[in-house]
Amino acid sequence: MAGRRTLHTEVMVLRKTKLSESDLILTLMAADGEQIRAVAKGARKPGNRFASRLDMFCDSDALIAKGRNLDIVTEASLIDPHVKLREDLDLMAGASALAELGEYTCYENVEDPFVFAILKAAFSTLEGLTGLSQIDLLVAAFTFKVLAHQGWRPELERCTSCGEPDVSFFSARMGGTLCASCAREISGAHELTPQQLGRLKALLTERFSTLLVTPIDKGTARFLFSLAHEWATAHLDTRLRSFEFMRGL
Ligand SMILES: [Zn+2]
Repeated sequence: MAGRRTLHTEVMVLRKTKLSESDLILTLMAADGEQIRAVAKGARKPGNRFASRLDMFCDSDALIAKGRNLDIVTEASLIDPHVKLREDLDLMAGASALAELGEYTCYENVEDPFVFAILKAAFSTLEGLTGLSQIDLLVAAFTFKVLAHQGWRPELERCTSCGEPDVSFFSARMGGTLCASCAREISGAHELTPQQLGRLKALLTERFSTLLVTPIDKGTARFLFSLAHEWATAHLDTRLRSFEFMRGL
């Protein structure tokens, strides 16, 4: 958006940070995938028009004025408020994980429309889910898909250490699967059943809608989510607090 004084774009709200008693700084993802940090004046006051139109996880149409230091939201109208994502604890935990990963995978002045499109699809899909297992699966799939798109695709067909195709362990630090022999040398490698490996591959290749119709047991969903958490932590080199919260549910 360099050179433009006002930007008109669809945005999703990833984070709200207190700026003053009445104002917020919003971390937004724009439709072209760029990250924008902009002030929403008055958004902390009850009844303020921005309070409901730019709440967490909202999908909104916004006018943003480029400031000398900070950008300022001047207008906003709702496209999809995603109300359920703020009303149910499990859905809110899942949405927070999606938003946090979104925040770490979009950047100022870097266009990546894929990230916006997949986050929008993930928020909408999440709103229709019930039960933690489905939420685990959706967040895991989102995490592996976004990171694979940005260059961190796990190797799942052969051992990342020796190339052997018969694999039965996974290590985020090693970049994917390992054979049983090499896994003995790697601390923290997780043993995988063939079924678990199949589900892990499906996270990368199948659409959300297809993934979520196949029944999954709670233990497998939690395990896949924990692998996604490790994968993201290892490759983004950061703590993901909303993932840690989800693991405690
Ligand atoms: Zn090996």
